[in-house]
Amino acid sequence: MKICRTPAELRAALEEARRARRSVGLVPTMGYLHEGHASLIERARAENDFVVASIFVNPIQFGPSEDLAAYPRDFDRDAALCERLGVDVVFHPEPEAMYAHPCVFVDVEELGDHLCGARRPGHFRGVCTVVTKLFNLVGPTRAYFGEKDAQQLAIIRKMVEDLNVPVEIVGCPIVREADGLAKSSRNAYLSAEERIAARCLSRAVAAGRAAVRPGMRSEALEQLMLDVIRAEPMARVDYLTVVDRDGMQPVEAVDGPVLVAMAVYIGRTRLIDNFTYAP
Ligand code: AMP
Repeated sequence: MKICRTPAELRAALEEARRARRSVGLVPTMGYLHEGHASLIERARAENDFVVASIFVNPIQFGPSEDLAAYPRDFDRDAALCERLGVDVVFHPEPEAMYAHPCVFVDVEELGDHLCGARRPGHFRGVCTVVTKLFNLVGPTRAYFGEKDAQQLAIIRKMVEDLNVPVEIVGCPIVREADGLAKSSRNAYLSAEERIAARCLSRAVAAGRAAVRPGMRSEALEQLMLDVIRAEPMARVDYLTVVDRDGMQPVEAVDGPVLVAMAVYIGRTRLIDNFTYAP
């Protein structure tokens, strides 16, 4: 396994694969890898000749009051896991190698107006910009993203369509802990007490899944899920919204495919979860 720290090194490492016309799978991550990331890498390994995983805490997708500096990092452990999973190249650049004096960005309109896009201004601009850079550097056949970040996945799909990027986007199911909590690098922030409180997110997802019916009013669905979360004193809801699955716009009722997405603070840690439903 090769570790590349600059775009030039990455390009050089990929030259051979490109010349031999091998299929290339890309898994973009911010590191502190867990089984959710591993599921993406395993799928990429199974479906491609050559696998690139990026480990880069992308500064431009964090707001000024967010957790960029505190974001958990353990590159040696991540690299060892990538090696075990059969990754060919790990791309782990310093921010300066990715952004010298950036003044061109990839932005997103309607799809980013609600959910995390509304709560984290500039977030998806940062995500789309770094993912475009990775696509340009790697030229992947396929790129793998988790359904845990459902709005991100929808935006990347639309970006690829709108900008004619020649890559297949593969969405991968949410991997959860035994008690239902969606795996996340940010779970590392939780105290023991908060970790127990965090179960309210997946409990709300389970309650929503069990209750949702074709034609159901979104407000009724949101309310019953909010009741589950508000029963947990350590939880504070950032948003919980029913949107249409493709356009990510709030809907009055469950008349077509929907995404039910939430962000909830447990103490100071902001966690997300979601489910999709098609009547
Ligand atoms: P991150 O390192 O948080 O930026 O995540 C990198 C990729 O892993 C994204 O496409 C995420 O959606 C995906 N991912 C993160 N957590 C999970 C999970 N629990 N299950 C499936 N995919 C995940």
